[in-house]
Amino acid sequence: MQKEPAHSPYANSSGQAKNVILLIGDGMGLAQISAALYSNNNKLALEQFTSIGLHKSSSASDLITDSAAGATAFACGIKTYNGAIGVTSDTLPCYTILEEAESRGYATGMIATSTIVHATPAAFIAHQPIRIFYEEIAEDFLKTDIDLFIGGGKRYFDRREKDNRDLYAELKGKGYFVSDYSVEELSDVMLTSKRNFAYFTADKHPLPAMAGRDYLPLATKMACSFLSKRSEHGFFLMVEGSQIDWCGHANDGQLAIGETIDFDKAIAAALSFAKRDGQTLVIVTADHESGGMALNPGSEMNKINARFTTNGHTGAMVPVFAYGPSESLFTGIYENTEIYYKIRQAMGFSTEAPSPAP
Ligand code: MG
Ligand code: ZN
Repeated sequence: MQKEPAHSPYANSSGQAKNVILLIGDGMGLAQISAALYSNNNKLALEQFTSIGLHKSSSASDLITDSAAGATAFACGIKTYNGAIGVTSDTLPCYTILEEAESRGYATGMIATSTIVHATPAAFIAHQPIRIFYEEIAEDFLKTDIDLFIGGGKRYFDRREKDNRDLYAELKGKGYFVSDYSVEELSDVMLTSKRNFAYFTADKHPLPAMAGRDYLPLATKMACSFLSKRSEHGFFLMVEGSQIDWCGHANDGQLAIGETIDFDKAIAAALSFAKRDGQTLVIVTADHESGGMALNPGSEMNKINARFTTNGHTGAMVPVFAYGPSESLFTGIYENTEIYYKIRQAMGFSTEAPSPAP
């Protein structure tokens, strides 16, 4: 039995989560969080979390993971090689938590600020040996009945290079309500919970937050409300702040701060739903840190002197924040693959992973 911390609002609950919202800040380490905090009047929604842990982010092939192996660890509970999308080290498909939730009758959704076929969302729904198989990953979306997805990458669906399939039209054929940035703003969409929903926010990658992209918090709010109406069992939603990572690669502290503050607003939206709902577990973490970012001497409140040690990823342990039923499972130090098992346990799924993939 896990001991609930005294300050947890769920100390007396049965601990089972009806809904799970997993928010992944790609490349978001403690420095990115700290820089955002000190650039946002010393306040973040993240501070409301009551159970905090650390995960060890290594992959099967490298001490320093990439986002594909990192997301596969969360999605399937396995360590695999860098570049793997929902497959084992032997390139066999692994059954993801999203796929299992769907087959158990839960509503499912994903939101990203990259293309929706990029490594992090892809690993929850697709099975491909290499992360750059974007058109194949788009095809894998059509093999599922994911209730909602919102992100960039329209071109991988409707103007493909490898074939003439129009997956945008095929989604409509499957009964989805499909729309995109060229038709209407996400905020103008009249969502009906009667149909699955797909919305493309860009042809390829969406803009950075500091260039005006602001849909992530709204999309998170919409998704919680939409998904909670789609199934009485509950829902699984993955929300990615995709571009924090890219700021690490670019060694751009200001951009990283902008992306992390935007991601924190999405966290606030998820928390707000969870607090009203009372049956929702919210987990915030990252796949790895990016850039070896530091808040160097000379930093002041609202004026961070960010420095970087690399334009790649780093191997530092990654913080995990949890709020809601079973949140105390997420305290302590554990492997990234444990996130998967902890989510299963919180949702009341058997503690053994199902296998093999369908
Ligand atoms: Mg990513
Ligand atoms: Zn990266």
